[in-house]
Amino acid sequence: GGALISCSAGFLNVPRIKGTHTAMKSGMMAAEAAVDAILSQRQHDELAAYPEACEASWVKKELSIVRNVVPLVEKFGELIGSALANVTMWAEYIGVKMPFTMKHHPNNESLWRKDQVKPIAYPKPDGVLTFDRLSSVFISNTNHEEDQPVHLTLKDP
Ligand SMILES: Cc1cc2nc3c(=O)[nH]c(=O)nc-3n(C[C@H](O)[C@H](O)[C@H](O)COP(=O)(O)OP(=O)(O)OC[C@H]3O[C@@H](n4cnc5c(N)ncnc54)[C@H](O)[C@@H]3O)c2cc1C
Repeated sequence: GGALISCSAGFLNVPRIKGTHTAMKSGMMAAEAAVDAILSQRQHDELAAYPEACEASWVKKELSIVRNVVPLVEKFGELIGSALANVTMWAEYIGVKMPFTMKHHPNNESLWRKDQVKPIAYPKPDGVLTFDRLSSVFISNTNHEEDQPVHLTLKDP
């Protein structure tokens, strides 16, 4: 079987462009539901514990606050939509619950078949106005040591 987790379930916090935390948390909740099902020797049924855990988690709370952001921008455009999105989002942050939840447009309607579109021509970087990725990273002054130790470590592996 399977479970929709992370960005496939739309768990990106769009205004923050942050989704790795909700990705990990939703993966953990799905895994916990699966392990519980296996340990209780269930099979061929639904992992109802997973959506229930999502509803009760901080993922739901966090995403609920920003739920109208994308629909507002889609409906009213970048200028007015973003302004409205900001007002509603910050109101929700300070505890003023908006009495509405707008709908997203169906994502699948944004997709086109390959034969309906023209391939985009990406010219090679010319070294004057456009640059290859490695040169751009160099220009950005990003600096990593070759033997830099991993800074994300498990407290209890
Ligand atoms: C520009 C940008 C900046 C971001 N910055 C941040 C940030 O600073 N902090 C943060 O928390 N989040 C950030 N995010 C969001 C974060 O990257 C995503 O929320 C997160 O990576 C989602 O994880 P995921 O596992 O759902 O999907 P992904 O990380 O997209 O993983 C999906 C994987 O599936 C693979 N895949 C797709 N189709 C197939 C197929 N048919 N067969 C096999 N494999 C396939 C893909 O190659 C990919 O590796 C950013 C996103 C973008 C685009």
